[in-house]
Amino acid sequence: MTVREVGVLAIGAGPANLALAVAIEESGSPELAAGTLLLEQSPDIKWQRDLLMPWARSQVSFLKDLVTLRNPSSRFTFLNFLHEQGRLDEFVNLGTFHPYRWEFSDYLQWVATSL
Ligand SMILES: Cc1cc2nc3c(=O)[nH]c(=O)nc-3n(C[C@H](O)[C@H](O)[C@H](O)COP(=O)(O)OP(=O)(O)OC[C@H]3O[C@@H](n4cnc5c(N)ncnc54)[C@H](O)[C@@H]3O)c2cc1C
Repeated sequence: MTVREVGVLAIGAGPANLALAVAIEESGSPELAAGTLLLEQSPDIKWQRDLLMPWARSQVSFLKDLVTLRNPSSRFTFLNFLHEQGRLDEFVNLGTFHPYRWEFSDYLQWVATSL
């Protein structure tokens, strides 16, 4: 076991703490970012893992992702996730603001691994 000093300890990698982690990453304080630890009980990150049926969509707009309303130019936006995964055209052609839940769940995993 290793001992590490932390300034911010966040329990659970759900949307709330991932949004906090992104805000800390973008705060301009490398010391704060380095002193932040986010712990998740599951081996992977999924958004409400029991609700990831292939046809199920989020009830809210993708614009309410982890960061857009605070910082639309962030590299952690849902749109940038889609762009990096080569899925942006497909999403735009769906003609909806409501992404599939599995896609939003993949976005959370992508953010966590991109931090
Ligand atoms: C049925 C339902 C449908 C919903 N639909 C939508 C929707 O369509 N759009 C929307 O925006 N919101 C929706 N919501 C609201 C939803 O609660 C939020 O979107 C969001 O999931 C809340 O984020 P959170 O980070 O607070 O918690 P959660 O998403 O619950 O994440 C908590 C995380 O903490 C982890 N965890 C828990 N305990 C521990 C522990 N002791 N140690 C380590 N890790 C732990 C969990 O594994 C999980 O990863 C819905 C809620 C419900 C109940």
